Amino acid sequence: MTAAPAATCHAGRVRLVLVGPPGSGKGTQGPVVAERLGVPYLSTGDLLRAQVAADTELGKRVAELIDAGELVPDDLMVAVVADALDPKGADGYVLDGFPRTLPQAEVIERPDSPLPGPDVAVHIDIPNRVVHERLAGRAHAEGRADDADPEVIDRRLEVYAEETEPLLDHYRDLGVLVTVDGDKEPEDVTAAILDAVAALPGAS
Ligand code: AMP
Repeated sequence: MTAAPAATCHAGRVRLVLVGPPGSGKGTQGPVVAERLGVPYLSTGDLLRAQVAADTELGKRVAELIDAGELVPDDLMVAVVADALDPKGADGYVLDGFPRTLPQAEVIERPDSPLPGPDVAVHIDIPNRVVHERLAGRAHAEGRADDADPEVIDRRLEVYAEETEPLLDHYRDLGVLVTVDGDKEPEDVTAAILDAVAALPGAS
């Protein structure tokens, strides 16, 4: 199919967060969408895994949490993300995996936040059955311990439902939520996300 037009005319660079369960395609869509929009992409999962691999102080603190499917504490995450985005994310971003809790979302909405909140939150909607199929394939391809253990996958889905899903109502109330069907070909999901961005107020 032909690629959808990128929202290059958006007044100011777009700040976009991807919200979806593990395996919904955030890591596939994020870099492509960021490239099309000309903004930095940041995956907090990738960032944390790199810290674990490099055995840094941060990596040592988070390794067990990641392997168990638990979340890293909010204050630590906000500092890590603000630090990683230069200059301070004000000039646009695509974030994959952050915010993941209401407190994380609320911190970046404060006027004194080191990282400004999003213009648009894209919910990638996908059935749990597809999540399980995809994660089984990814465990094989990428060797991620948290994808290989069905109990850890269940725990991550539970954590998603408890901690992350409330973000959907929050962003809906703020009027910035867009839902796309994630159970489609990757190109179609990308097109749906870019269409949603192009439809934002201020895009032309
Ligand atoms: P992901 O690659 O996005 O599935 O993230 C892998 C793991 O990193 C998660 O299961 C959490 O342990 C941790 N993680 C990533 N992003 C966050 C976040 N925003 N808040 C807390 N923990 C996170």
